[in-house]
Amino acid sequence: MTRCQEFVDQARGLAMHEMSIADSILEIIDETARTNGYSKVKTVFLEIGQLAGIEVSSLRFCFDVVTRDSIAQSARLEIIEIPGQGWCLQCARSVTISECFEPCPACGGVQVQITGGDEMRVKELEVT
Ligand SMILES: [Zn+2]
Repeated sequence: MTRCQEFVDQARGLAMHEMSIADSILEIIDETARTNGYSKVKTVFLEIGQLAGIEVSSLRFCFDVVTRDSIAQSARLEIIEIPGQGWCLQCARSVTISECFEPCPACGGVQVQITGGDEMRVKELEVT
């Protein structure tokens, strides 16, 4: 296998990751719509933590693909980014970080435990 091929496989793997996320978002939408008797979803408000490891542009693309012929067809995806939160063991306080394994912005220490901003959730649906 060439290096290039490896890279392509990696890229495909990443896209699959976002594709499965888009699938689970659609599942949540479907279930919510069924429970509440919605017939058309106009906007989907999605909270994504900066540390969730989700590529937003890929997710938008995958979302458009999986929602075709669904209740959320041509729905707008409204993404709210949640900043990463960590707890620095050295400073003994909460700090904001933008990447996993990023050192503490205050002391430069590497003992930062992730406490928030590593999740994704469907916050709200706008329906017609
Ligand atoms: Zn620190």
